[in-house]
Parts: sequence; structure tokens; C-alpha cells
Amino acid sequence: MKRKAKITIYCAMICMLCGCSNSLNNPVQNIDTAMGTVISQTLYLEENAEQESEEMPREVLRIIDQLEREVLSRRISESEIGRANASAGSGTNVPVSDTLQSVLTTCQMISADSEGAFDITLGEVVRLWDIDSWAGEDFSHYKIPTQEEIRNCLQNVGYHKLLFTNDCLQVPGGMQLDLGAVGKGIALDEIREYLEQQTQLSGAIISVGGSILTYGEKESGSTWNVAIVNPLDTSERLGYLSLKGTWCISTSGNYERYVEIDGTRYHHIIDPYTGYPVDNEITSVTILSENGLLSDALSTACYVLGVDAGMTLAESYGAEALFVDEEGYLYMTDGMEEVFRR
Ligand code: ADP
Ligand code: MG
Repeated sequence: MKRKAKITIYCAMICMLCGCSNSLNNPVQNIDTAMGTVISQTLYLEENAEQESEEMPREVLRIIDQLEREVLSRRISESEIGRANASAGSGTNVPVSDTLQSVLTTCQMISADSEGAFDITLGEVVRLWDIDSWAGEDFSHYKIPTQEEIRNCLQNVGYHKLLFTNDCLQVPGGMQLDLGAVGKGIALDEIREYLEQQTQLSGAIISVGGSILTYGEKESGSTWNVAIVNPLDTSERLGYLSLKGTWCISTSGNYERYVEIDGTRYHHIIDPYTGYPVDNEITSVTILSENGLLSDALSTACYVLGVDAGMTLAESYGAEALFVDEEGYLYMTDGMEEVFRR
């Protein structure tokens, strides 16, 4: 089946732009696509920053696109991950950029701290399920992978099997890397670095798919209101996070990309122990962190781990977590409770 970028617009992405109701400097708004998802930007600029109002949204999109093309995409053979995957089993040491090196170091740490619940070496299993290609399409012809296919793929999965020294990577035979769980969060970190250099900007709220960056403030003392989708009815929101200043918010949910066969939902977050989509009564996890990579990685890791182990993991990284289960019950860390509003 031919791959095409899947574009999903969530109401939350639109809602979250609403923010609070105080009057504002003219915000600049931009909605576009990159990294196979919707990018929404609202930038609060000083008056007379006309040039910046055109340049900044373009530059943000360029940053995301470049990150995808040069570093992260497993579908682009020239990206660093594309080249590393192509070298699997050859014994070649593939040099990695500083960006990828620091991403891999953090990913490996989260894998170890989550006892393997988070694992970027799941590439072959992710490809076998191929949920991204089928989600939102007519999935009546979708073929569920067999136990044997899954078992074969799982043999080569394991973050501890990845040979990674300071500036080189060696991918064992049969292993494929997949940074789908962290790409959007990494993009937020790069965007934040860019925004920090912009003297004409007072604040911004930018969403890259399910990951959102709040930056600075619209005007003195204002708050950002970031909507949380109700995973049981995605046309509704559960509530919102009321935040001051710069934050990253990532959500992993079973409603984002899935196929449904005979009443069973197969979604895109895989349990590395079984090779099947996670089935643990969780429907979504939202993580709040100052760091985008952490918010994105932890949202996936915590989804796999479930409430108890997930909360412990999030708190060990100084992050806040909100879990929603199948019954619609919410579970929050203390810091999340302080900012969550109904
Ligand atoms: P989204 O990409 O929709 O924001 P996530 O951040 O939770 O959602 O990432 C899901 C993606 O991460 C999957 O599409 C797959 O590429 C990858 N993935 C799935 N399961 C895992 C896992 N246990 N550990 C690491 N990456 C995973
Ligand atoms: Mg994630």
C-alpha cells in the first residue's frame, strides 16, 4: 500500500488556540502541515513587527521540516535514522549528529527507567502493524499480523541491543529504529530555541500534532489554556491546563491512530513485551514538562506502563501526568491537579 502523509486535525488543536479572553496584541495565526501532521501557530508579536509576522511562521515550519528530513524520518533514506536503519546488520558504525546523539541518550535512559516499556528499536513491529497507513482509511481489508510474524519481529527488538557510543551507532541485523514517539517533542525543543532568539515576540502557542508548546506570554500576567481532548468522545474536551510561561504538553491516546476489527481497536502504541497494541484500560496520557522530548517520550512510556508505574516514572523526571481510563476516570500527579481546570 502506498504511503501517504496522514493529516489529522483534532478539535483540541483548534480549541487550544483560544487561550484566555483578555484583549491582545494582534496575534499572527498560521495553520499548515509538516512531519505528516498539522502545525498550528499563534504568535504574539510587538506592534510593527510586520516582517517577523511573515518570517517567523515560515521559519518554524522550516525547522520542523528540516528535522524530519535530515534526522528523524525512517521513511527518508537520507535522514540519519534512514541511514542507520539501512546499515542494520552490516556492522557499520554510523556517525550521528549532536542532535541525534542527545536524543538517543535520553531515549535510552527512558527505556532503562521504564524497564523497556519505551523502546525506539520497535521499528519492525511498528511497520508490521502499519497502523499509520490504515488509520482513518477503509480498514475492512486490514490484515491483523499473525502471532508468528509478531514473534519474529520481536526477536530483534531491545533497546539494550543497540550499540551506541558517543558519536556512533551500530544497528544489529533485523532491528529498525523508529522515533515516532518523540519526533514532535523534539520539534518543540528546536522551535523553543528559535523563539528564544526572537526579540519581537512576547509569546506563542504552537502545536505539532498532539504536542503543544506554550512560550512566554501574550501580555503581562496572561495564562495559556491548553485543551485536553476527551479520549472517549473526541468532539469534547475534558478540561484544560491553565499555564503560565513556557511548557511542553504531549498526549498519547488510543484515539489518535487506530483500526477497528470486529469491535477490537488496534492502535499505534505497542507493548514491547507482547508486540501487540497496549491493552491496559488506559485511553490517554498527557504529560506536562519543560522539555518537549521528555513530554513526548514520557507520554508514550506512561501509556504503556499504566497509572501507578507511569506516575512514578513521570515524577522521577520532574514531569506531571494525567491519565484517563476506559471508564473516563482521571488520575493526576499533584502538580497536574494544580493546573487542570474543568
Ligand atoms: P503520536 O505520534 O500520535 O503523538 P506517540 O507520541 O504516543 O503518539 O507515539 C506513537 C508512535 O511511537 C507510534 O506510531 C510508533 O511509531 C512509536 N511507538 C509505538 N509504541 C512505542 C513504544 N512502546 N516505545 C517507543 N515508541 C513507540
Ligand atoms: Mg509520545
